Amino acid sequence: MKGALDIVLLKPHEDGIRSLLTQGAGAERSAYMLFGRADIQMDPWSRAPRTRLISHAFSNLDPADLISASNRHVTWQTDGFMRLLGDALTDNLVPALVHTHPEGRAAFSEQDDQNEAILARTALMKGAAGLISIVIAGNGEVAARIWMSEEKPVDITRIFHSGPRLKLDYDDDAEIAFLDRQTRLFGEHTTQMLTKFRCGIAGGGATGSAVLPLLMRLGIREAVMFEKDRAEQSNLNRLYGARQGDVAAKALKADIHARTVSEADLGMSLVTIDAWAGEPSTWDSLKACDVIFCCTDDHAGRLFLNRFARFYGIPVIDVGLAMQRRDDQSFDLFARVSTLVVGHACLLCGGFIDPRRAREETLRRTDTNAYQKLKEEAYVLGEGDPSPAVVTFTTEAASMAVNEWLTGITGFAGPSGMLPTRIRRFHARDERVLGLPPKPDCPCCENPSTLGRGDVTPFIDMVS
Ligand SMILES: [Zn+2]
Ligand SMILES: [Zn+2]
Repeated sequence: MKGALDIVLLKPHEDGIRSLLTQGAGAERSAYMLFGRADIQMDPWSRAPRTRLISHAFSNLDPADLISASNRHVTWQTDGFMRLLGDALTDNLVPALVHTHPEGRAAFSEQDDQNEAILARTALMKGAAGLISIVIAGNGEVAARIWMSEEKPVDITRIFHSGPRLKLDYDDDAEIAFLDRQTRLFGEHTTQMLTKFRCGIAGGGATGSAVLPLLMRLGIREAVMFEKDRAEQSNLNRLYGARQGDVAAKALKADIHARTVSEADLGMSLVTIDAWAGEPSTWDSLKACDVIFCCTDDHAGRLFLNRFARFYGIPVIDVGLAMQRRDDQSFDLFARVSTLVVGHACLLCGGFIDPRRAREETLRRTDTNAYQKLKEEAYVLGEGDPSPAVVTFTTEAASMAVNEWLTGITGFAGPSGMLPTRIRRFHARDERVLGLPPKPDCPCCENPSTLGRGDVTPFIDMVS
């Protein structure tokens, strides 16, 4: 594990941690956890390596293991700890201890230092990469650290709470002057927190080009965009930032967006990556994000991010649009925003990706001959005329997506945060909310072994 460390705490695991406060009824309680690892070789903004630890599993102690507990201490038998280490080593996960301070603060005591040093020695001797320790106080605050040597633990101050509600714990504050009007609505703390999110934008076409300036004006400091197309004449009706001259110059869309950000000079650092989200050169940067806006219209990219969200606990906000003229009198104009977080139905469950189409797109990019053959045999779906697109609808869809993320952070639309899927029908002037739970047999979102699993080989366990 290299460089700065941060933790991603997924909602079901955090619920487990919080339940210890109730279970203990005033006395201390402890539990075990396992964390997946995301080793980032080069962070897109700092250019340095760093490591994220993602919560993967929470398990209560066997009640028979509890020896004694009061409001100041908890002791338990360590047989379960040896089993935890075994599981961690088998699956290349990082073991963790959790305990409560029902009346104290979210800070480690001298007693904690002594007890954990012994357990850390055992864990390291057995070959674990480290031992994570988490303490939760009665007021709900959480602190975390990791023992990578038995002498001294390292504090982990950046904790990302990931679920339909989103929260970042961090330890550096820097006020952004131009956000005064936003602060008046969301408050100082929330505005600060929101600017700390590292945002990914998959696709710099119509929707992505509208998402980017919205994030910039919300005060986002670090963004990364994945896009490799060049500007064309037919993009100018909806591509923000694009100029007539860019078409003649065959400018990369990514360069157009970099220019927008640089000319505005609002403190955003935008990294652009010349690849489609899902290509191996994008993996490292995707892992470094706290949210990813999926603004691509390809099924293969969506299928990838759908699974990626699950493995890394990073929310993906997926935007889809469908526009067509039904007949002389009527239109079909839909915008869909789906939030891919634990507990929400994924794009496969929702029926929003066509796996067959995703396969065809992958084939088109990787094996032209096989794709041509498939096409000649007329097995290829929907590769007809370019679909219609109008800037007012693409912009509104972008706004819906960013607002959904904002309600996750601020709670402006209620304490439960982001909705699974919203579908706006412009032609009917209405909106429907789809709150379907994940399908029990979904290969993506109902398998506990994939949640917060982090790095595995092959990447996200996906064979193309
Ligand atoms: Zn303690
Ligand atoms: Zn699913």
